[in-house]
Amino acid sequence: MSLLELKNIHTYYGHIHALKGISLTVNEGEIVTLIGANGAGKSTTLRTISGMVKARSGEVLYQGKPIQRVSAEQIVAMGIGHVPEGRRIFPRLTVEENLEIGAYLLRDKKVVEERKQIGFQLFPRLYERRSQKGGTLSGGEQQMLAIARALMQDPKLLLMDEPSMGLAPVLVDFIFETIQSLNKSGKTILLVEQNARIALQIAHRGYVLQTGELTLSGPAAQLAATPEVQAAYLGGH
Ligand code: ATP
Repeated sequence: MSLLELKNIHTYYGHIHALKGISLTVNEGEIVTLIGANGAGKSTTLRTISGMVKARSGEVLYQGKPIQRVSAEQIVAMGIGHVPEGRRIFPRLTVEENLEIGAYLLRDKKVVEERKQIGFQLFPRLYERRSQKGGTLSGGEQQMLAIARALMQDPKLLLMDEPSMGLAPVLVDFIFETIQSLNKSGKTILLVEQNARIALQIAHRGYVLQTGELTLSGPAAQLAATPEVQAAYLGGH
Protein backbone atom coordinates (compact mmCIF):
# COMPACT_ATOMS: atom_id res chain seq x y z
CA MET A 1 0.00 0.00 0.00
CA SER A 2 1.25 3.48 -0.84
CA LEU A 3 1.68 5.95 2.00
CA LEU A 4 0.01 8.62 -0.14
CA GLU A 5 -2.13 8.32 -3.20
CA LEU A 6 -3.85 11.02 -5.23
CA LYS A 7 -6.60 9.81 -7.53
CA ASN A 8 -7.84 12.08 -10.28
CA ILE A 9 -7.63 15.27 -8.21
CA HIS A 10 -9.26 18.45 -9.52
CA THR A 11 -8.61 21.64 -7.56
CA TYR A 12 -9.95 25.10 -8.36
CA TYR A 13 -9.34 28.64 -7.14
CA GLY A 14 -12.71 30.19 -7.99
CA HIS A 15 -13.03 29.47 -11.69
CA ILE A 16 -9.27 28.81 -12.18
CA HIS A 17 -8.84 25.08 -12.78
CA ALA A 18 -5.41 24.63 -11.14
CA LEU A 19 -5.22 20.81 -10.97
CA LYS A 20 -6.81 18.88 -13.80
CA GLY A 21 -6.93 15.27 -12.78
CA ILE A 22 -3.73 14.56 -10.84
CA SER A 23 -2.99 10.95 -9.91
CA LEU A 24 0.23 10.07 -8.14
CA THR A 25 1.62 7.82 -5.45
CA VAL A 26 4.29 8.15 -2.81
CA ASN A 27 5.52 4.96 -1.16
CA GLU A 28 6.86 4.76 2.34
CA GLY A 29 10.59 5.55 2.45
CA GLU A 30 10.72 7.37 -0.86
CA ILE A 31 11.77 10.83 -1.92
CA VAL A 32 9.41 11.76 -4.76
CA THR A 33 9.86 15.02 -6.58
CA LEU A 34 7.31 17.05 -8.45
CA ILE A 35 8.93 19.33 -10.99
CA GLY A 36 7.40 21.89 -13.30
CA ALA A 37 7.46 25.50 -14.39
CA ASN A 38 6.03 28.49 -12.52
CA GLY A 39 2.30 28.22 -12.08
CA ALA A 40 2.14 24.54 -13.12
CA GLY A 41 0.29 23.68 -9.90
CA LYS A 42 3.08 22.25 -7.76
CA SER A 43 2.22 24.26 -4.64
CA THR A 44 -1.47 23.62 -5.20
CA THR A 45 -0.79 19.87 -5.20
CA LEU A 46 0.92 20.13 -1.81
CA ARG A 47 -1.81 22.42 -0.46
CA THR A 48 -4.45 19.96 -1.60
CA ILE A 49 -2.69 17.16 0.28
CA SER A 50 -2.27 19.17 3.48
CA GLY A 51 -5.88 20.34 3.37
CA MET A 52 -5.12 24.05 2.97
CA VAL A 53 -7.20 23.99 -0.20
CA LYS A 54 -9.85 21.38 -0.87
CA ALA A 55 -10.07 19.33 -4.04
CA ARG A 56 -13.35 19.73 -5.88
CA SER A 57 -13.22 16.08 -6.90
CA GLY A 58 -10.96 13.08 -6.65
CA GLU A 59 -9.43 11.32 -3.67
CA VAL A 60 -6.41 11.88 -1.44
CA LEU A 61 -5.59 8.65 0.37
CA TYR A 62 -3.14 8.65 3.26
CA GLN A 63 -2.30 5.22 4.65
CA GLY A 64 -5.28 4.04 2.62
CA LYS A 65 -7.74 6.47 4.25
CA PRO A 66 -9.46 9.28 2.34
CA ILE A 67 -8.40 12.64 3.79
CA GLN A 68 -9.72 15.07 1.18
CA ARG A 69 -12.43 16.21 3.58
CA VAL A 70 -10.32 16.09 6.74
CA SER A 71 -9.31 19.45 8.30
CA ALA A 72 -5.77 20.76 7.81
CA GLU A 73 -5.17 20.51 11.56
CA GLN A 74 -6.26 16.89 11.65
CA ILE A 75 -4.05 16.11 8.66
CA VAL A 76 -1.04 17.45 10.57
CA ALA A 77 -2.04 15.28 13.52
CA MET A 78 -2.20 12.25 11.20
CA GLY A 79 1.48 12.72 10.36
CA ILE A 80 1.73 14.96 7.32
CA GLY A 81 4.06 17.94 7.75
CA HIS A 82 4.21 20.85 5.29
CA VAL A 83 7.21 23.11 4.73
CA PRO A 84 5.45 25.83 2.75
CA GLU A 85 6.71 27.91 -0.12
CA GLY A 86 8.40 31.06 1.15
CA ARG A 87 9.00 29.44 4.58
CA ARG A 88 6.13 31.35 6.27
CA ILE A 89 7.93 31.76 9.53
CA PHE A 90 6.63 34.28 12.06
CA PRO A 91 8.97 37.29 11.80
CA ARG A 92 8.22 38.80 15.21
CA LEU A 93 8.52 35.55 17.12
CA THR A 94 11.83 34.08 18.16
CA VAL A 95 13.27 30.91 16.67
CA GLU A 96 12.15 28.97 19.74
CA GLU A 97 8.64 30.43 19.63
CA ASN A 98 8.38 29.53 15.95
CA LEU A 99 9.27 25.95 16.84
CA GLU A 100 6.72 25.90 19.66
CA ILE A 101 4.03 26.98 17.20
CA GLY A 102 4.96 23.94 15.09
CA ALA A 103 4.15 21.84 18.15
CA TYR A 104 0.82 23.46 19.00
CA LEU A 105 -1.00 20.13 18.76
CA LEU A 106 1.28 18.57 21.38
CA ARG A 107 0.22 18.73 25.01
CA ASP A 108 3.29 17.20 26.60
CA LYS A 109 5.88 19.92 27.30
CA LYS A 110 8.61 17.32 27.67
CA VAL A 111 7.97 16.04 24.15
CA VAL A 112 7.99 19.62 22.82
CA GLU A 113 11.37 20.18 24.48
CA GLU A 114 12.77 16.91 23.06
CA ARG A 115 11.59 17.76 19.56
CA LYS A 116 13.15 21.22 19.82
CA GLN A 117 16.45 19.60 20.70
CA ILE A 118 16.17 17.32 17.66
CA GLY A 119 15.73 20.43 15.49
CA PHE A 120 18.70 22.10 17.15
CA GLN A 121 20.85 19.00 16.59
CA LEU A 122 19.91 18.99 12.93
CA PHE A 123 20.57 22.72 12.62
CA PRO A 124 23.06 23.94 15.27
CA ARG A 125 22.77 27.40 13.70
CA LEU A 126 19.20 27.58 14.96
CA TYR A 127 20.33 26.79 18.48
CA GLU A 128 22.80 29.67 18.35
CA ARG A 129 19.96 31.93 17.21
CA ARG A 130 17.19 30.49 19.36
CA SER A 131 16.34 33.86 20.98
CA GLN A 132 16.59 35.83 17.75
CA LYS A 133 13.44 37.04 15.95
CA GLY A 134 12.52 34.93 12.92
CA GLY A 135 12.41 37.98 10.67
CA THR A 136 16.09 38.72 11.27
CA LEU A 137 17.31 35.31 10.06
CA SER A 138 18.95 34.84 6.67
CA GLY A 139 17.03 33.02 3.95
CA GLY A 140 18.93 29.80 4.62
CA GLU A 141 18.29 30.01 8.36
CA GLN A 142 14.61 30.66 7.73
CA GLN A 143 14.49 27.54 5.57
CA MET A 144 16.14 25.55 8.37
CA LEU A 145 13.56 26.94 10.79
CA ALA A 146 10.67 26.06 8.48
CA ILE A 147 11.97 22.48 8.26
CA ALA A 148 12.61 22.21 12.01
CA ARG A 149 9.13 23.62 12.69
CA ALA A 150 7.50 20.99 10.45
CA LEU A 151 9.49 18.28 12.25
CA MET A 152 8.07 19.30 15.64
CA GLN A 153 5.05 17.05 14.99
CA ASP A 154 7.35 14.17 13.98
CA PRO A 155 5.59 13.71 10.62
CA LYS A 156 5.78 10.47 8.67
CA LEU A 157 5.39 12.33 5.39
CA LEU A 158 7.03 15.69 4.75
CA LEU A 159 5.75 17.94 1.97
CA MET A 160 8.47 20.38 0.96
CA ASP A 161 7.77 23.35 -1.28
CA GLU A 162 10.80 24.79 -3.10
CA PRO A 163 13.32 24.51 -0.27
CA SER A 164 16.08 25.78 -2.58
CA MET A 165 14.32 29.03 -3.43
CA GLY A 166 16.51 32.09 -3.07
CA LEU A 167 19.40 30.25 -1.42
CA ALA A 168 23.10 30.46 -2.29
CA PRO A 169 24.41 27.23 -3.91
CA VAL A 170 26.32 26.12 -0.82
CA LEU A 171 23.13 26.37 1.25
CA VAL A 172 21.11 24.59 -1.41
CA ASP A 173 23.58 21.70 -1.11
CA PHE A 174 23.28 21.73 2.66
CA ILE A 175 19.47 21.74 2.60
CA PHE A 176 19.39 18.88 0.09
CA GLU A 177 21.86 16.86 2.17
CA THR A 178 19.55 17.44 5.11
CA ILE A 179 16.56 16.23 3.08
CA GLN A 180 18.49 13.07 2.21
CA SER A 181 19.47 12.45 5.80
CA LEU A 182 15.87 12.97 6.97
CA ASN A 183 14.83 10.41 4.37
CA LYS A 184 17.50 7.95 5.57
CA SER A 185 16.23 8.40 9.11
CA GLY A 186 12.76 7.30 8.00
CA LYS A 187 10.88 10.32 6.63
CA THR A 188 9.01 9.95 3.38
CA ILE A 189 9.32 13.10 1.31
CA LEU A 190 7.31 14.74 -1.45
CA LEU A 191 9.52 17.51 -2.79
CA VAL A 192 8.37 20.30 -5.06
CA GLU A 193 11.20 22.00 -6.92
CA GLN A 194 11.95 24.34 -9.75
CA ASN A 195 15.58 23.30 -9.44
CA ALA A 196 14.95 20.05 -11.29
CA ARG A 197 18.60 19.15 -11.55
CA ILE A 198 19.23 18.84 -7.83
CA ALA A 199 15.75 17.46 -7.10
CA LEU A 200 16.24 14.61 -9.58
CA GLN A 201 19.66 13.90 -8.07
CA ILE A 202 18.26 13.09 -4.63
CA ALA A 203 14.81 11.74 -5.52
CA HIS A 204 13.94 8.11 -6.14
CA ARG A 205 11.09 8.96 -8.50
CA GLY A 206 9.64 12.05 -10.07
CA TYR A 207 6.62 13.52 -11.80
CA VAL A 208 6.50 16.40 -14.27
CA LEU A 209 3.60 18.78 -13.90
CA GLN A 210 2.53 21.04 -16.74
CA THR A 211 -0.40 23.46 -16.45
CA GLY A 212 -2.23 21.32 -13.95
CA GLU A 213 -1.57 17.95 -15.56
CA LEU A 214 1.10 15.30 -15.06
CA THR A 215 2.89 14.72 -18.33
CA LEU A 216 5.76 12.38 -17.37
CA SER A 217 6.76 10.17 -14.47
CA GLY A 218 9.34 7.57 -13.62
CA PRO A 219 12.54 6.81 -11.74
CA ALA A 220 14.46 10.06 -11.22
CA ALA A 221 17.50 9.02 -13.27
CA GLN A 222 15.29 7.97 -16.15
CA LEU A 223 13.35 11.27 -16.05
CA ALA A 224 16.58 13.26 -15.99
CA ALA A 225 17.64 11.45 -19.16
CA THR A 226 14.49 12.20 -21.17
CA PRO A 227 14.93 14.83 -23.87
CA GLU A 228 11.74 16.70 -22.83
CA VAL A 229 12.96 17.08 -19.24
CA GLN A 230 16.44 18.03 -20.38
CA ALA A 231 15.15 20.67 -22.75
CA ALA A 232 12.50 22.17 -20.48
CA TYR A 233 13.92 21.78 -16.98
CA LEU A 234 17.62 21.01 -17.14
CA GLY A 235 18.73 23.81 -19.42
CA GLY A 236 19.21 21.51 -22.40
CA HIS A 237 22.32 19.80 -20.98
P1 ATP B 1 5.09 28.53 -8.37
O1 ATP B 1 6.36 27.81 -8.36
O2 ATP B 1 5.12 29.80 -9.15
O3 ATP B 1 4.45 28.68 -7.03
P2 ATP B 1 3.32 26.34 -8.83
O4 ATP B 1 3.64 25.27 -9.81
O5 ATP B 1 3.52 26.03 -7.41
O6 ATP B 1 4.10 27.63 -9.22
P3 ATP B 1 0.67 27.05 -8.07
O7 ATP B 1 1.12 28.08 -7.09
O8 ATP B 1 0.17 25.78 -7.55
O9 ATP B 1 1.83 26.76 -9.10
O10 ATP B 1 -0.42 27.71 -9.03
C1 ATP B 1 -1.18 26.97 -9.97
C2 ATP B 1 -2.18 27.88 -10.64
O11 ATP B 1 -3.15 28.33 -9.70
C3 ATP B 1 -1.58 29.15 -11.23
O12 ATP B 1 -2.26 29.44 -12.41
C4 ATP B 1 -1.84 30.20 -10.17
O13 ATP B 1 -1.93 31.48 -10.74
C5 ATP B 1 -3.15 29.74 -9.60
N1 ATP B 1 -3.26 30.11 -8.17
C6 ATP B 1 -2.43 29.73 -7.17
N2 ATP B 1 -2.84 30.21 -5.97
C7 ATP B 1 -3.96 30.91 -6.22
C8 ATP B 1 -4.87 31.65 -5.40
N3 ATP B 1 -4.71 31.75 -4.08
N4 ATP B 1 -5.92 32.26 -6.03
C9 ATP B 1 -6.09 32.15 -7.37
N5 ATP B 1 -5.28 31.46 -8.19
C10 ATP B 1 -4.23 30.84 -7.63
